[in-house]
Amino acid sequence: MMRRCVELSADAVRAHELPFSCVICRDGEIVVEATNRVARDGDVTRHAEIVAISQAQKILGRKDLSDCTLYSNVEPCPMCSFPIRETRIGRVVYSISSPMMGGFSKWDVLSDQEISDVMPQVFGGVPQISAGLMYRDAAAVWRSWNPLFWFGIRLRGCLAESNNDAMATLQTGQPPRSLWKRLAASLAQALPGKRASEAQVASSSRPQAKSAA
Ligand SMILES: [Zn+2]
Repeated sequence: MMRRCVELSADAVRAHELPFSCVICRDGEIVVEATNRVARDGDVTRHAEIVAISQAQKILGRKDLSDCTLYSNVEPCPMCSFPIRETRIGRVVYSISSPMMGGFSKWDVLSDQEISDVMPQVFGGVPQISAGLMYRDAAAVWRSWNPLFWFGIRLRGCLAESNNDAMATLQTGQPPRSLWKRLAASLAQALPGKRASEAQVASSSRPQAKSAA
């Protein structure tokens, strides 16, 4: 699946897009494959993952994609990570990590347990997240597309470097916590003692400049 995803990222370049691509599969079969359509559609929201998720829902005739795995050549951004959580995709695999723009590395939408605990009707549990698979192949597409851009974007830390293709599971899947566990957590939050101690910590951790002023 990732091999196909990397091929698609090269297709994206040929279509005058940035090399971003996505494959969604289910039971070992590809449900849908997509590239970025930002340039062609003149629309910054047309990321490969969003295009793929939208089509997968139409093809399968349902919003719930919990039995699907999403492959992406680059770590999904936060915008794409929200529909991943809303459609309850069970597993996310990507090649190149995105420390500056990632929906896991930077703004952690992908593995935020709280949103599924508090709103389990809207958000699925935390998906299993794996990174690094076929990094060298994925990076080679970027490098051959624009060596200078690839050098610059890594120099600024926007996309991470890796020395190998080994896939690492960064996050195991976590279902939303049970109603009783959520109630217990809510009660613990609502306890006056807890609130008071939190307020104390918050005020003591404020910058010194406030008291100096
Ligand atoms: Zn995105």
